[in-house]
Order: sequence, then C-alpha cells, then structure tokens
Amino acid sequence: MTHSNQQVSRRSFIAGAGAIAAGAALASAATPALAPLQAQAATQGADMAGALAKTVEHATYKPDWLGDAPEVAESDIKETVTADIVVMGGGNAGTMCAFAAVENGATVAVIEQQPKDSIFYYGLHDVASFNSEKAKSLGVRDIDTVEFLAEYQRRSHNRTNPRLVKKYIDNSGEMMDWLASNLDPEVADAIVVDTSDQDYQAYVDLGREINRFTCWPGTLQVNYNKGAAGLIEKAEAQGATWYWEYTGVKVETEQGTTTERAERHDDDGVVEFYDKEVSQITAKSVIATDPDGNYVRFVANKAVVLAGGDYGGNAAMYEDLQDEKRWLYRSHGLDTSQMRCAGFGRDGSGIKMALWAGGTMDPNLRCLVDPQVMFASDTYTTNVLRWGASFSPAENPWGCPFVWFDQTGRRFTDECFMGIFGQRIRAERSKPGRYYVIFDSHWKELMSRTSPEHFAQPMGKPGNFDLEATIDAWVDRGAQGAEQNEGESVCAWGAQTLDELLSYMPLDDDVRQSIKSEIERYNEFCANGRDEDFGRDPKMLLPVDQGPFYGMYCVEERPMTGTCTLNGVNIDENQAVLDENYNPIVNLYATGNNSGGRFGIEYSTPMQGLTLGMAMTLGRVLGKELAGAEVEA
Ligand SMILES: Cc1cc2nc3c(=O)[nH]c(=O)nc-3n(C[C@H](O)[C@H](O)[C@H](O)COP(=O)(O)OP(=O)(O)OC[C@H]3O[C@@H](n4cnc5c(N)ncnc54)[C@H](O)[C@@H]3O)c2cc1C
Repeated sequence: MTHSNQQVSRRSFIAGAGAIAAGAALASAATPALAPLQAQAATQGADMAGALAKTVEHATYKPDWLGDAPEVAESDIKETVTADIVVMGGGNAGTMCAFAAVENGATVAVIEQQPKDSIFYYGLHDVASFNSEKAKSLGVRDIDTVEFLAEYQRRSHNRTNPRLVKKYIDNSGEMMDWLASNLDPEVADAIVVDTSDQDYQAYVDLGREINRFTCWPGTLQVNYNKGAAGLIEKAEAQGATWYWEYTGVKVETEQGTTTERAERHDDDGVVEFYDKEVSQITAKSVIATDPDGNYVRFVANKAVVLAGGDYGGNAAMYEDLQDEKRWLYRSHGLDTSQMRCAGFGRDGSGIKMALWAGGTMDPNLRCLVDPQVMFASDTYTTNVLRWGASFSPAENPWGCPFVWFDQTGRRFTDECFMGIFGQRIRAERSKPGRYYVIFDSHWKELMSRTSPEHFAQPMGKPGNFDLEATIDAWVDRGAQGAEQNEGESVCAWGAQTLDELLSYMPLDDDVRQSIKSEIERYNEFCANGRDEDFGRDPKMLLPVDQGPFYGMYCVEERPMTGTCTLNGVNIDENQAVLDENYNPIVNLYATGNNSGGRFGIEYSTPMQGLTLGMAMTLGRVLGKELAGAEVEA
C-alpha cells in the first residue's frame, strides 16, 4: 500500500532549481544593456526560491477531508473475490463499463453500495450523443463532430482534454445504439428526442449561433432507471457479478520503479537522452465492506476502475474544492461550512481512493451541474418563482430570452448570453432579491430563436401542459397574480397594455417607472438592431411593444450549489489515473465524475445532457478497451 501524496515531487524540484540557475546566469552577465533584465532576473531568482518552497509545500499538502487511507489488518479480511476488472461504483459510468467489459470477454465484479431494489441512477437521463442510428430514426440531423469538438474546447478555454472529449464524441453514437438495442424493448421504444431541430427551428435557420456560441439540438432522453436492471441481468448471465450494498474503502497498490526516457544537457548545452528510473505505482485490488461490515478483498487481474461519482454530498470536500461557489457564498455573507449539492451528491469516496493510491486532483476550475432547478430562499417561503431553468416561460422563466430587470428596475445583462448560464451568473453576483421579467406577444418567436443550452425547452417539455393556454390565462386573471393562487408555482400577471400590467405587479413606483423607461430604451435598440447596453445578439432583439404583455418575478437569495460536481482526479485519454509525474498508475482507471479533464470553468453545454453522455460513453469505452476491444480513437 502506498501513499505518495506526502512525497516531495522530484520533478518540480528539478524544474524549480533549473529556473533559479537560469536567473542567476542572466544576473551575472556583464552587458550594460542587460542591466534591467539582470535586476529582474535577480528578483525572480529570489521569487523562485519562494516559489520552490511553495512547490514543496504543495507536494506535501493534504487536505483535512482526505485524511489517511484506513488501515485494514490482513486478519480482518474475511473473503477474497477475483475478477479481471473490479468496478468500484455501479452508477451510470460504472454499469456501462461493466456491460462493455463482460460483453468483450472479461470477468467483472461491480462493487455498489446501494441496494439492488432501490438503486437510483442519477439523472433525468437527457443524454448527449452524436449521429446514432437511433437519433437519425427520430429525425435528428447529423452533427459535424469536429465543429462540436472545437466549440467544446473553446468554451473550456482548452482546459478539457481534447483527446478524451473526442473519444466521447466519436463513440457516443455507438453507445446510444447499443443502449437502444439492448434495453428492454419497452424502454428502448420510449427513447425520445428531448430537443429537436423543430423545437429550435428559428435558431437553426438563423445560423445556430448566439453571441458566437454554438449549440446543437438532438439530445435523447432514455429511462435508464427503468432499463438498467434488464441490462444487469444480461451482464450477469455473461459472467459479471454485482456486489450490492458493498462499499469500496481503498485501493491496494504496489510501489515499484520503471524507466522513462529523459533528457539532460552537458556544460556545452549538448542534449542527451537517457533512461531515468522513476517510481511506478500498480493497483492490485480494492478493499470493500460487505453489507455486514466485513472486509472483502477484490483482486483485479487486469484493472481497478473507480466510478464512484461526484463529491457533491461531502460538505468538507465541497467547501474546499468548489472555489467559486465558496466565494459566492461568502460574498452573500453565508456560512460555507455546510455547503453541498442541493439534495444530491455522492460522498467523494472514489476520488479519495484515487488520491490515496497516488493520484492527483484535476486542477481545472471545479464546476458542477448548475444551475439546478430552483434557487434556494429563506425569505420566500412559498414555491414562488425560484426556478433556475427554462423548461418553459410559464413554469420557470430563468433562462428565457425576454427582458430582465434587477431590483431597481434596470436591465442587468444580455439576457441571451448562453441561455440560462449568463442570467444566473449575473444574478448571483448582484444584490439578492427579486428579479423581474417582462415579455409580450413576441414570446413564442423569441423562444424558438433561443439556443438549446442546459435546461432549455422552448415550448415546454413534450406533453407537459398547454403552454399557450397557461400564459393566456394570466391575462384573464387580471390584477390577481398567481402569487395569490394557492398551489401555483409561479407569480405571473398578464394584461393587454404594458401600463396595466405594471400596475398589477407589486412594484415600487420608482422601479415601475424604471422598467418602463428601460423597455422604451430596449425597444430603440431593437429598432436600430444594436443593444448599446449589453450587446445582445441582433437576431434576439425583438421589441416589447405588442400586447398582450406578461410579467413575472423570480427570487435569487442564495447562489445555487448544483446537483453534482464534475471534476475528479487527473486521468489521461485512456482514463488511467495519473500520478505526480503525470505517469499512469498501472491498472488504475477513473471514469465518470470520479475523473477530471472533461469539464472546466463552467458546466457549459453546446448540447444538453453532456455529463451523462460522457459518463455513459466513456464508461463503455473504458470497459471495451480494458477487455481488449476496438473503440473509435
Ligand atoms: C437529479 C439529477 C439529474 C440529472 N440529470 C442529468 C441529465 O439529464 N443529463 C446529464 O447529462 N446529467 C444529469 N445529471 C448528472 C449526471 O447524473 C451525473 O453526471 C452522472 O450520474 C455521473 O455518473 P457517474 O457514474 O460518474 O456517477 P453516479 O451516477 O453518481 O454513480 C456513482 C455510483 O457509485 C456508487 N458509489 C459511490 N461511492 C461508492 C463506494 N465507496 N462504494 C460503492 N459504491 C459507491 C453510488 O452509489 C453510485 O451508484 C443529473 C444529476 C442529478 C443529481
């Protein structure tokens, strides 16, 4: 067993020492013209010494939430199970990995802590995949996968691993078709297009781009919670075994050495290559507890796969790792110690197991599936308009491309910036309280021009309700907004004129006046095709000038904490867990939300359903690869 986290990184030590030497060499040169540079180099040399100390400190950094791997005495191990591949965590990624591995001839043991009868696979199962036969049969047009990859990398500022993302994109269609042909027919036949070109006809016709961000419809919805049991039955018939209510505790490893090609140069600067001995960690087995709390050793002949999901339910990990969320909470004067994903989130045990084994944490800006559905509020006790998604303007208007106002009645953003993301991000950085949205009879046209980002549904989820009738009913209700209507989830008003509408809404006179003049200003921008205040995309500049008019308000009091976190440990394109030398830990893999490199900066969505798309596809790809089968590379 190893714990390499506390070891000083030799590689960073050498890099730091080299930089100091370079600074010193420049500082000693005797050319007057170089004097300013020499001074700078001398300072940098001193700075570098400080940086080196920090590097050492960082290498020995061990957060409180990590602690040490539990010690398990040999005598406490009650049973040993052996399989080619041991999958720790049988969720979305883990099951898909196990199915693929067993189908391709490997023996598989799945350690899953939930009970068989009540397991909940996270997700509404909007799954992003590309160019599957299933999607084509449902009328989805082919997507240019190269264009998609470029857009994805652009959005993450290249923080995501393009080879890994490409692997997902190129194998996702096959994954979807495999699902469609292996799920029980009842579940497979119920796969629907969640977002189609038709829903976004105007968006597609207008060039499929807003503010230079591109988005693709075509996400499919699969009822995996209904279908997984049938798939597991098939996998078990082929040689896989699920260990229900078993909990993974730690990975056992063996420490050794290997050689890697390195380079050095002599005093004349001549470079030579040589074999350098470096440490090498090999994963051997997983220690888990059975339902009675006994220790069981799962020996992996070929590979240990960590697929334990996110750390959104672990408050200590959340507080430490979710930097942006922590500072947003602090800026609201809120306590950060109990932050966690809203209602969901695993405990991060798979990530801890990887770190104990010698893995390292994804350095990307840690992000989450966010926004979740609702803003939390302490003040507004009813269900009134705290929604965080735009299934439809009648249910939850955040993200709808209408005209939005802050508490003072002023517009505060380009409302169309990346669908729900832009509005929510600005609202979370502004004074907490009510936000107002006003729209008119252009609403349907605007909705069809919007982009199919996360949570967007221009006309409501299929079959949800009659959206038009719901909105029209607001006009009939007159002054009595839905806020007063028991059981309604929105507070909304409708009227034939803007003045009438604003008189119904509970607004301070100054705010009412401000909204009115801001709408006049906005309408001028529409007439000129240029939003002087926020640069809203010209194609989204439809005026608010034709009744009926509609108004709603939403509340933002506490920033959203998301439904699940998306950054795990560093992996390479083969999903091997990387050590501090960026070398793979032999036979140790992480997939799904245990792994990093897939999301950076923000959960931004050129297509909806990307986290499940990636978890399920890359889980399947890993299972195939470990069993020696071909994948699209
Ligand atoms: C309510 C909700 C709705 C969502 N909807 C969507 C959507 O529609 N589209 C989309 O793309 N994404 C969606 N997501 C996100 C998506 O569900 C996750 O990104 C995805 O589940 C990640 O898959 P995973 O296999 O990595 O983790 P999980 O699916 O969380 O699986 C992890 C598994 O590991 C098990 N486990 C954890 N630790 C241990 C341990 N120590 N020992 C044994 N077992 C362990 C857990 O019980 C679980 O079964 C949603 C998330 C939530 C919470």
